[in-house]
Amino acid sequence: MERSLIILKPDAVQRGLVGTIVGRLEQRGLKIIGMKLVHMDEALARKHYAEHEGKPFFPGLVSYITSGPVVVMAIAGDNIIEMIRTTVGATNPAKAAPGTIRGDYAVTIGRNLIHASDKPESGEREVQNFFDAHELLENFNRDTDRWIFEQ
Ligand code: UDP
Ligand code: MG
Repeated sequence: MERSLIILKPDAVQRGLVGTIVGRLEQRGLKIIGMKLVHMDEALARKHYAEHEGKPFFPGLVSYITSGPVVVMAIAGDNIIEMIRTTVGATNPAKAAPGTIRGDYAVTIGRNLIHASDKPESGEREVQNFFDAHELLENFNRDTDRWIFEQ
């Protein structure tokens, strides 16, 4: 079972795209186990994006991600990390395929609407950065699961 952290970035909130983007992930059948509105401070932003520290875009990225509220979500399931990345599309929306979230709703890398964990280890680390254990409903049953996953 993998866990992925999704962030609907400040542009998604400001542009009223939260429902649309959550809907895309929900409609795919992905199981959301945690969700909340957060205004990230600089320390949390630097921690979340630590792998990019020192890169030229890092200061702009920190100011973008802390510029307003974001929606953070945790999604759980088998092999979901790659599936979600494919649904999200390429980092640069100019190169993202139509049908992906970034390919359909964004045009520039510095305003690309959404974060999704890039590998299982990052998913675990990132989910724990944003959620306390009691905020994650790991074990709730969805009656639709038998129509989404072969049992
Ligand atoms: N980013 C940017 N300019 C770049 C590369 C990345 O502004 O040249 C931002 C962009 O918001 C991206 C984030 O930094 O989503 C993290 O970059 P990463 O390469 O991890 O892309 P992602 O995993 O989000 O697709
Ligand atoms: Mg990344």
